[in-house]
Amino acid sequence: MKTIADINFEDKKALIRVDFNVPLDDNGEITDVTRIEAAKTTILKVLEDGGAAILMSHLGRPKNKEEEFSLGQLCSKISEVIGVEVNFVDDCVGPEATKAAAELEMGKILLLENLRFYQEETEGDLDFAKQLSELGDVYVSDAFGTAHRAHASTTVIAQFFPENKCFGALLAKEIESLDRVLNNSERPVLAILGGSKVSSKITVIENILDKVDEMIIGGGMAFTFIKAQGGQIGDSICEDDKMDLALDILKKAKEKNVQIHLPIDVIAADEFSNDANTRVSEINKIEEGWQGLDAGPKSRVVLDAVVNRARTILWNGPLGVFELENFAGGTIALGKSIAQATQNGAFSLVGGGDSVAAVKQFGFDDQVSYVSTGGGAMLEMLEGKTLPGIAAIQ
Ligand code: AMP
Repeated sequence: MKTIADINFEDKKALIRVDFNVPLDDNGEITDVTRIEAAKTTILKVLEDGGAAILMSHLGRPKNKEEEFSLGQLCSKISEVIGVEVNFVDDCVGPEATKAAAELEMGKILLLENLRFYQEETEGDLDFAKQLSELGDVYVSDAFGTAHRAHASTTVIAQFFPENKCFGALLAKEIESLDRVLNNSERPVLAILGGSKVSSKITVIENILDKVDEMIIGGGMAFTFIKAQGGQIGDSICEDDKMDLALDILKKAKEKNVQIHLPIDVIAADEFSNDANTRVSEINKIEEGWQGLDAGPKSRVVLDAVVNRARTILWNGPLGVFELENFAGGTIALGKSIAQATQNGAFSLVGGGDSVAAVKQFGFDDQVSYVSTGGGAMLEMLEGKTLPGIAAIQ
């Protein structure tokens, strides 16, 4: 795996694909700078070597060249976070971009306009990728969030740099962390999968059954498994058409000697609302008119023990409807258990949009070993797929 550490960027212009697809509020203000901070190590390494950095990214899903999706609006914030002034050019290909890149002095940073102002980006257009490639001397791939897309700037472009391409620090860390969980892990290995739907994580579950010793299936997903085994789940969320699949997973897990843990009790609510009446119920005896929205107190104790005997932990998906304060307790308790296990020497990786949001919201992000920056990309890696953006560099 060739990374920025293997390249001396002196007098070189590094064309870096970053992920500055940051969340913006209604006034165009950035609400979370995590993705910009994540790109800092790579950018500073290039500058410290005596090179220049040309940054390319997408922002949102523009249909045309809409001002609200311009990367120009992020420029001052990016300068502030990186600690170096960032120059902006309001195109990513064509004469203006070519001129700005050619005139860029060593030690400086140039940010290109939103790549998705050209539909050729998402189409993976060869000519567009070639035009981009002509802006720099070395291609650095550092956008994990889009590594599962075969877009012009994430994948196609790499062929124009047969020798001079590498992973940035962030992408290298993402790959290493997942490898440490899936392939080079210290046992026992525990995967915790939560969230709302079995259907969206089924391939992940099937793939990682070969890699883990124990698995916790929590959140809304659990009810499909409970109902499939004859439990009463009241009005809890359930995918009836996935019940056979759920039984099949339980059977396969048994064959592979993987211990599956489902919650044993839940906080049930009489409506999907923070103001609902609640009661604790055994997970397989939930009455009609009630739905399980969080892991119950007994489950939290049992799961804490499971987490704390693991040496490698992967967490994807919340244990309850954590967005509603009254149903966040199970997810918070799990976060605490993982933080504790990490403190005791386990390696913990948290990934996937909602669990990342949860660890940040509840302040566990600096108490786990690694928080992944890519939701869809991480899920696809867990499914065992080779991501095009990663294959293009390898
Ligand atoms: P996913 O996008 O599949 O990872 O699911 C995340 C969502 O699952 C979050 O928005 C949670 O609110 C939701 N969720 C977790 N537990 C439950 C539950 N018991 N009932 C309904 N939704 C849930």
